Amino acid sequence: MPEHATELHTPAWPTARSARTGRRPIEDFFARVGSDPLAAAFPDARRAHPPMRARAVPEPDVPLHWERLLAQPRRQRGTAYVHVPFCENHCLFCGFYRHPWREDAGAPYVDQVIAQVASLRQRAVLEGPPLRALYLGGGTPTALSARDIARLVEALREGLPLAPDCEITLEGRIWSFTADKVRAAFGAGVNRISLGVQTFDERLRRALGRKASRAEVIHCLEQLVATDAGAIVIDLLYGLPNQTPELWAADLATVTALGLDGLDLYGLNLIPGTPLLSAVASGKLVPIGHAELGRFYAAGAEALDRAGWLPISTTHWRRGVRERSIYNYEAKTGADLLAFGAGAGGSLGGTGFLLVSDLADYARCIDTSSCPAVAITEAAPNAALHDAIRQGMERGRLAPDAPARLCRERTGTDFLALVEPLLAQWQEAGLLTRHHDFYDLTLAGRFWQVQMTSRLTDWIDQELSLRSAPREGDRDDRTRHDA
Ligand code: SF4
Repeated sequence: MPEHATELHTPAWPTARSARTGRRPIEDFFARVGSDPLAAAFPDARRAHPPMRARAVPEPDVPLHWERLLAQPRRQRGTAYVHVPFCENHCLFCGFYRHPWREDAGAPYVDQVIAQVASLRQRAVLEGPPLRALYLGGGTPTALSARDIARLVEALREGLPLAPDCEITLEGRIWSFTADKVRAAFGAGVNRISLGVQTFDERLRRALGRKASRAEVIHCLEQLVATDAGAIVIDLLYGLPNQTPELWAADLATVTALGLDGLDLYGLNLIPGTPLLSAVASGKLVPIGHAELGRFYAAGAEALDRAGWLPISTTHWRRGVRERSIYNYEAKTGADLLAFGAGAGGSLGGTGFLLVSDLADYARCIDTSSCPAVAITEAAPNAALHDAIRQGMERGRLAPDAPARLCRERTGTDFLALVEPLLAQWQEAGLLTRHHDFYDLTLAGRFWQVQMTSRLTDWIDQELSLRSAPREGDRDDRTRHDA
């Protein structure tokens, strides 16, 4: 970004809050205008998800709330997640590492998860709409033996109300995904395999702590595609230390030649507590600068477009119609999420919960039929409205219908009048275009989707809370900004 870009138009972040009300002016939510929007629309490109705002239930009340959650039928679209929290090593960039993999840990752990599923047999929470997607993630589910993968998937299919067209994904690593496990997974009903490749480049892979070589990765993916038994999808990361545009282009050329069904492109996040962040902090590794990340994203989108792939979310592309990516979309946009396994997190009717992550504690909870939840958060006041916004933004299109209806019904507020000044400024900044009644994210807008969604929901929350609880002196401020 040229140095002078910040001088051209609005805004300089953040502007001052109102001293009387604590209200942030709308300019705080604006994008930078007059520079390359891919490089500099907002100050920070490295952020994974829009934050959820929720109030925690006091710890002593968690078991009671847990029982209440299980005693209510589900009322909306739903999915299920199974956490397998073992990894063969700690990949440098990853914030999800919990427990080192041990051969003798797999079978007892699978027994416990199956017992947790069975414990719901008579519970009302299994009533309601059938589940659209089941995701076995981690960690490394493919570290489990072929027998354990098969009996786990079979028990889940038997014990959960899965829809006939349920997407059943097994996530894993190439290193441990042997042919007998592939057969066991598809034989048990898995219809989608998701592998975290991150990069095909040998040097970058070694620096990330990935064990399989480029040749092994390609061979494994070719074998999986040749089974023709389900969708094969992978993740690639951009913004890695020492990753050049040429290396990124080579990764994209490799991926489009493999016959895969789906692909996620993620910008590298520097997550607190990861070895990568320590290496960056000590100067051992230098990640790609913020302003460069958008160009990597754009290069990825263009390469996939040239190869005939279609985006079905702002981070996910598919080559043909086999890939649906149901779980990722539903989990990010407020669907019910039944969760199983140590450290798994879920959500029911907007109430979030987290299961105990210590393996011995999880085993004890399952053995004694006691509450495995260690934290529960109540739904945020505007959660349904946020979810309606995310459902569009996640796919690259803000469709105002559903948010407008919810906003009117629940708060009596005109949604479009509330957000129009922000959407107009984002159009000026090159992040949105108007298409009929929709607001489509441009390529730059798709890159900044998470930051835009956060700003949109932050702005709405602030304005709705001021409207619902006016304080003396608020009125002038709000009137001026709503005009
Ligand atoms: S990337 Fe996967 S295998 Fe590596 S540490 Fe994270 S969860 Fe474990």
